[in-house]
Amino acid sequence: MDFDLIIIGAGLAGCCAGITAAQNNLRTAVISKVHPLRSHSVAAQGGINIPIDEQDIELHIRETLASGSGIADADAVSFIVKNAQQSVEFLQKCGSLLQIEQSGELARRNFGGQKVARTCYYKDRTGLSLLNTAYEQALRAGVQFFDECEVFDIQLKSAENNLHTIKTWKKDKGKILNFTSEFLLIANGGYAGIYPRNSNCLGNIGNIQSILFQKGIPLIDLEFVQFHPTGLTRSGILLSEAARGEGGYLLNSQGRRFMTDYDERAELAPRDIVARAIFTEIEQGRGVDSGDGRKTAVHLDLRHISRDKILEKLPEIYDLVLNFTGKDLSQELIEVAPTAHYSMGGLPVNANGQVLGPSLTPVDGLFAAGEAACMSLHGANRLGGNSLLETIVGGFLAGSSICLSKKKADLTTPLLPSLTLDRFLAEAEKTRPEGNGIFSQKENCNLTLPQLTTILTQFPAQEFAQIAPNFSFIIEEIKQSLANGAGIFRDQSRLADSASKLERINASINQIFSQLEERATAKASTDTTSRQSTDSLLAQPYLPAAQELLDLRCHLILSQLIIESADARKESRAAHQRSDFPTTDTNFQAHSLIYLEGSKLMIKYTGVNNGQE
Ligand SMILES: Cc1cc2nc3c(=O)[nH]c(=O)nc-3n(C[C@H](O)[C@H](O)[C@H](O)COP(=O)(O)OP(=O)(O)OC[C@H]3O[C@@H](n4cnc5c(N)ncnc54)[C@H](O)[C@@H]3O)c2cc1C
Repeated sequence: MDFDLIIIGAGLAGCCAGITAAQNNLRTAVISKVHPLRSHSVAAQGGINIPIDEQDIELHIRETLASGSGIADADAVSFIVKNAQQSVEFLQKCGSLLQIEQSGELARRNFGGQKVARTCYYKDRTGLSLLNTAYEQALRAGVQFFDECEVFDIQLKSAENNLHTIKTWKKDKGKILNFTSEFLLIANGGYAGIYPRNSNCLGNIGNIQSILFQKGIPLIDLEFVQFHPTGLTRSGILLSEAARGEGGYLLNSQGRRFMTDYDERAELAPRDIVARAIFTEIEQGRGVDSGDGRKTAVHLDLRHISRDKILEKLPEIYDLVLNFTGKDLSQELIEVAPTAHYSMGGLPVNANGQVLGPSLTPVDGLFAAGEAACMSLHGANRLGGNSLLETIVGGFLAGSSICLSKKKADLTTPLLPSLTLDRFLAEAEKTRPEGNGIFSQKENCNLTLPQLTTILTQFPAQEFAQIAPNFSFIIEEIKQSLANGAGIFRDQSRLADSASKLERINASINQIFSQLEERATAKASTDTTSRQSTDSLLAQPYLPAAQELLDLRCHLILSQLIIESADARKESRAAHQRSDFPTTDTNFQAHSLIYLEGSKLMIKYTGVNNGQE
């Protein structure tokens, strides 16, 4: 199937980009491995930041830059914040509910790291409200959706082929479907799901980032992973910052509000500070029993807030706690601990949302938006409420940029947000500032694993169990190694341990994959029909095995890259805390770029755009 634009991902970023593209008559398809309304955007609880007025725009920009700890790019921050109002208003006018005060103004709640209450919300189901509308509007504009369709390989445009080729596994049919397009937008969300305790949906494991990395596309700022302070201890399920925004406390085993010892903003300090404080309380023996006999949690206390207010403002959190712990949070203390939550890093993009190659020049026809991209609004630490904003503005921006590239200003519908052609052309000319020369490289990195198509379609599935070990155990091992090396605090020895463990796993997986591929290729050569084998891993009973193969590949690649990026950054900065390098080093006030050059793994640092020409 051929389209002008293929969008991978049906979350807020993918749907918003789709609206703009389809409204401007681009033949647009969105591919999603789940139904669009099961994308992770739907789980966003607390709210979306919208500046209160003109004056607040400046403060919102300043607070976002401060939270980014020196590596948020000023141009990206300013663009997203300035376009917040009109972008969200578009969805509101189409039907998205955001809570309104009696005065008719948008209701706003406090969120961490922000002096004023500017986070707009619909109860604690903000993502649900926004994504429903964005999806409806994308359908209305004529976007074609392909659900239950997982992308597992991409061939980018080249001198020989002027279209991108996207290979997908249509799960409900057990078939491989191929797509081609002139433009490709990556909106597959983040990868915090590769940590053992995380707040993300199962699909957020960065599979597209790892596929593109293997094709030579760099990834940026991978060492910055946000740990949200309050996840349920066993499942990692998020209890939104809205719980603290509405007045919730954090208590240690002595029943004391310990956050005041760490920051004057107490529970509403930025997330990295609160997560580290909880971790420190636990390490120093003031943790509470997390339900398994180990003192690895602290308490979230909402008992002083009226039940009516909780049910009105935090119904989702109330239900989650009741369903997953059996507790009534208006009456009881809830055990919480930090949970991997958000990826600040991702695919490097320029101010138009176009993906950059290793030499920082735009890649032909390749764009990214939302959590998958790093433009870099969040720098080293994201402010709560800024991500939903980025998905919407960034989605419209990428959609608009693609329309402008395609049609060179011959547009039928106004772009959203109202971009001007001048801005687009001016930004396209700009390059990122040069870095400071810090550079590292590692020889013979075996980071390219097979594409798996032959294995998926031709491997004699009944033999799978004999040759392949249980991949889910290996995935669990990878997750644990990642968390041990690149958790809330990192140091040289833990990073080195994890790196060597992951390298060992990589070597054995490569061997297993090669054997599988060999056997599948042999089978394919004896099979004279062009159809896929009925005994393949894509046949009904073997689908979980096929899923594990795909999930294993991206877990392994991304975990290794996060560990390498965290090892190379020898300083502490916001979400990246090295106990062996506890101070911030201005030499590292730069973005890290990790990429493959042949079999060499390269890490280089590029400058931050600080807003000065
Ligand atoms: C529990 C939770 C609460 C949050 N609360 C807030 C909040 O209150 N405020 C805020 O600002 N931010 C919040 N965030 C962050 C925010 O929700 C996300 O960053 C944002 O929604 C990401 O949107 P997206 O469009 O980039 O991707 P997602 O919504 O994650 O969608 C990704 C899409 O990619 C598809 N996909 C992935 N891989 C493939 C593949 N291989 N093939 C095909 N399709 C694929 C998926 O099917 C999905 O459609 C929260 C995050 C979580 C986890």
